[in-house]
Amino acid sequence: MADFEVPELKEHIEIPELQEGAMAHSQPFVSKEQWQQPLGYPGELVENWEQAALDKMGDLLGKYRSFQVFLDACVKCGACTDKCHYFLGTADPKNMPVARQDLLRKVYRRYFTFAGKYFPKLVGAVDLNKEVLDEWYSYFHQCSQCRRCSVFCPYGIDTAEISMAAREILDSVGVGQKYCNEIIHKAQTLGNNLGLPQPALKDTLLDLEEEVEEDIGVPVRYPLDEKGADVLLITPSADFFAEPHIDGLIGYGKVFHQLGISWTMSSFASEAANFGMFIGSYENMQRLALRIRKAALELGVKRIVFGECGHAWRVAYSFLNTLAGPFDFLDPNYPVPQHICEVTWDAIQKGQLKLDPSANDHLNVTFHDSCNVARGSRMGNEPGGQFKIPRAILKSVVNNYHDMPRETICESTFCCGGGGGLLTDDLMELRVKGALPRMEALKHVHDNYGVDHLVAICAICKSQFTKVMPYYGFEMDSILSLHQLVGDALVFDQHE
Ligand code: SF4
Ligand code: SF4
Repeated sequence: MADFEVPELKEHIEIPELQEGAMAHSQPFVSKEQWQQPLGYPGELVENWEQAALDKMGDLLGKYRSFQVFLDACVKCGACTDKCHYFLGTADPKNMPVARQDLLRKVYRRYFTFAGKYFPKLVGAVDLNKEVLDEWYSYFHQCSQCRRCSVFCPYGIDTAEISMAAREILDSVGVGQKYCNEIIHKAQTLGNNLGLPQPALKDTLLDLEEEVEEDIGVPVRYPLDEKGADVLLITPSADFFAEPHIDGLIGYGKVFHQLGISWTMSSFASEAANFGMFIGSYENMQRLALRIRKAALELGVKRIVFGECGHAWRVAYSFLNTLAGPFDFLDPNYPVPQHICEVTWDAIQKGQLKLDPSANDHLNVTFHDSCNVARGSRMGNEPGGQFKIPRAILKSVVNNYHDMPRETICESTFCCGGGGGLLTDDLMELRVKGALPRMEALKHVHDNYGVDHLVAICAICKSQFTKVMPYYGFEMDSILSLHQLVGDALVFDQHE
């Protein structure tokens, strides 16, 4: 099945023997001019790229204090070295977080520090040349910006930010990544990553209404572009058609229906995902965020709720108000934005949802914390709400639940292997190998407790697991949307 060696699942996560250069060949397709220029980047490698790259680095150092602190602060303690799923899965030493950072740090030192300018060899500083640039392209596209390493770094150095800066420098000299930049362009011009036009969205939602009514005998609505609705749901476009994502969308609709909340989706802002973050571009992130503001104003909604998508929730929770606020035209009684899990959990606590967890008795599940939710956001009003709320919902709708080992969940969760703009088939080897630690943790609860399904609240995780689980002997449909289980446990009277 694979033209590379799939790692063997071990009983416990093991630190691999180093294989120098094992992933040096891994590079995603380079973006063409047609995707570069609309985002404000040159179509190909510019002539004076060395100077342009250094200018951009200087610009970012001036703009983001954290970037310079992260480049200066590392003491090479080694605490992060075995914390990256890509290192554990590929054994390539350049996938150790500190080594990945050093690819950029050694150039920073050469041009931006006194010691590097005058005694480069002493401080490991190197000139920027084409070989270095190629290495950046390769290894900064082997970081899913999951931030696991930063949890273990005594100085809190965030490799994700260094990786974002590196990608922004690469874009600025004309070497962008096709997958991310094509998607950003589609979302900015057509409203979603997939380029789905309004009629296609409408058709899908009408089909869904028919399907749900046939299934439960209740006319649950999946509205699009309906002015005057209370809630604007911003959800990943994968929810409109991909499995198991669409089952999550079915679940959101059932929750809104039972709560009597009027809601709508928007064809103009039919995408929660914001790949602008993956390429480190504030401007491109902002263009997408402003579409959400415009849709909310035009539809006259009172609240904005986000569906199940990890990085989308991070962008929304951490940056939406800065990128596209103020949202003073919305109902002040609700946070902006709100996560669908917050809506559902609030309703469960108030006894507003009729649930029968035995509807899911054929399942034995565990929960995968998505990195951007776990380490880049929060839910509810108390610390750790982003871990507690999805689990509390899950335990209200299933009877068979077991957590994976503690060191692989919550703030220490392992990335699915496809985050950070790496969910593309040209990186399949990396994706499969990067999924190893999560698959080992899943195997642990499978072998010890009979767990047969993994539940997630991230569109990227769901797509990634569907693809990589079969490489490790799990069924591709062993991954489920949290709101699918909520929807299946909801009890409806026929007259509702
Ligand atoms: S941010 Fe995640 S993917 Fe990137 S180096 Fe750290 S652990 Fe690895
Ligand atoms: S844990 Fe932090 S300080 Fe230690 S080597 Fe890694 S990045 Fe450097």
